[in-house]
Amino acid sequence: MKAHDGMYIGGAWRPAAGRDRIEVVNPADEQVIAEVPAGSADDVDAAVRAARAALPGWAATAPAERAALIGALRDVLLARKGEIAQTITAELGSPLGFSEMVQVGAPIAVASSYAELGASYAFEERLGNSTVLLEPIGVVGAITPWNYPLHQVVAKVAPALAAGCTLVLKPAEDTPLTAQLFAEAVHEAGIPAGVFNLVTGTGPVAGQALAAHEGVDLVSFTGSTAVGKQIGATAGAAVKRVALELGGKSANVILPGADLAKAVATGVGHVMNNTGQSCNALTRMLVHRDQYEEAVSLAAAAVATYPSGDPTDPATRLGPVVNAKQHERVRGYIAKGVEEGARLVAGGPDAPHERGYFVAPTVFADVTPEMTIAQEEIFGPVLSILPYEDEEDALRIANGTVYGLGGAVWAADEETAVAFARRMDTGQVDINGGRFNVLAPFGGYKQSGVGRELGPHGLAEYLQTKSLQF
Ligand code: NAP
Ligand code: MG
Repeated sequence: MKAHDGMYIGGAWRPAAGRDRIEVVNPADEQVIAEVPAGSADDVDAAVRAARAALPGWAATAPAERAALIGALRDVLLARKGEIAQTITAELGSPLGFSEMVQVGAPIAVASSYAELGASYAFEERLGNSTVLLEPIGVVGAITPWNYPLHQVVAKVAPALAAGCTLVLKPAEDTPLTAQLFAEAVHEAGIPAGVFNLVTGTGPVAGQALAAHEGVDLVSFTGSTAVGKQIGATAGAAVKRVALELGGKSANVILPGADLAKAVATGVGHVMNNTGQSCNALTRMLVHRDQYEEAVSLAAAAVATYPSGDPTDPATRLGPVVNAKQHERVRGYIAKGVEEGARLVAGGPDAPHERGYFVAPTVFADVTPEMTIAQEEIFGPVLSILPYEDEEDALRIANGTVYGLGGAVWAADEETAVAFARRMDTGQVDINGGRFNVLAPFGGYKQSGVGRELGPHGLAEYLQTKSLQF
């Protein structure tokens, strides 16, 4: 696949400072498909300087003009949708239909939302004898993961641009090609030089240099809780703003009286989509003791409708996981589930194909709340079904992890579901199959993170307040 041999800094593709390279691998066949430069601290420094130089001009640009440029960016992404989806499928492995509809479709919707919000947002408010100005925080260091290579980038870049911030992006080393296409789109949209800059590279080198750079005012990170803690500590020591979008272990609570078949099928789909590599995936299904065996059979039947294979084949519903390390890790968790006594009802630790980082769609029954597979983020196509005795028991189990990102409740009526959702320690809850909303604040309670993304709440993260007294 085509790749730039450079960094997008100050509005142009510039050679990297060093000679290190990252090989991009197609996880479906394990072939190297491209190489990109691995950035060093020098590349990060050049990018932060470019972002800082562009900041005064961009911050002073009228919000409506910034919003119009976000609209232009959305139009380029839309025009290049097919090419971007193919690139995501090649470097991440998600089935092509999913890449088009979700991997590219969702960020286009997010960009659209900020093209509107950026123009209508109240960047000034009156409070008694004060005028409060909501001003851009400054230069943003954005560090993103591979699971939604375009969405994770747009969810940071679009609100930052709307707020008047400039950025340096360090994308995941597994999915740099999508990030390069995004930089091309920024350029084509006519966003001024230096407002958005891209440094490809590894986390411990380029990511660490960006998080620690004194010219960065806000570090916005999405990824693992382990790295997030480290980034939070670095930012805290420098009294720098930080936004952390971390892991999850979301509960899908099916209360008695709910439409069981629909709840189970929807829940299974939520875990199998993107091969279980969504931070809010509903990986713990909680079912009342009386309906437990029925739910287990329904789930086993539902996963059988997720054949894995070549992600460019329209019949494929389950792609590989992203890389060899995740392949080992996810199958290790499945082996651990068996070892700790959970009942395997579908799938298992064996790789289903000779080539590619495939994992069989897996369902565990008789999972207890303290088991490793019920506590730790697996990030693969693995569903655990846990029985509960009554509502209080269900709530204890649902809230019984260090995470609190997503969740779902199914009940006979919305009122019952909402009453339960109010007691859940989590940032989002889908009520009776409620759909994803690009305007709803997305983010975690507890160790799932700090701050919110998307919609007006996401925009507010990139603003700081100044009050003038009269
Ligand atoms: P990760 O290491 O946290 O990666 C996320 C981003 O942080 C990547 O761009 C990564 O660069 C960068 N990074 C890594 N170490 C860094 C450091 N010391 N300083 C600054 N940046 C650093 O996540 P991962 O290793 O790809 O995945 C591991 C686990 O994290 C998964 O199994 C899953 O449980 C969780 N995860 C969660 C999400 C989410 O959306 N919440 C997304 C992805 C993964 P590199 O690409 O070079 O590593
Ligand atoms: Mg990594």
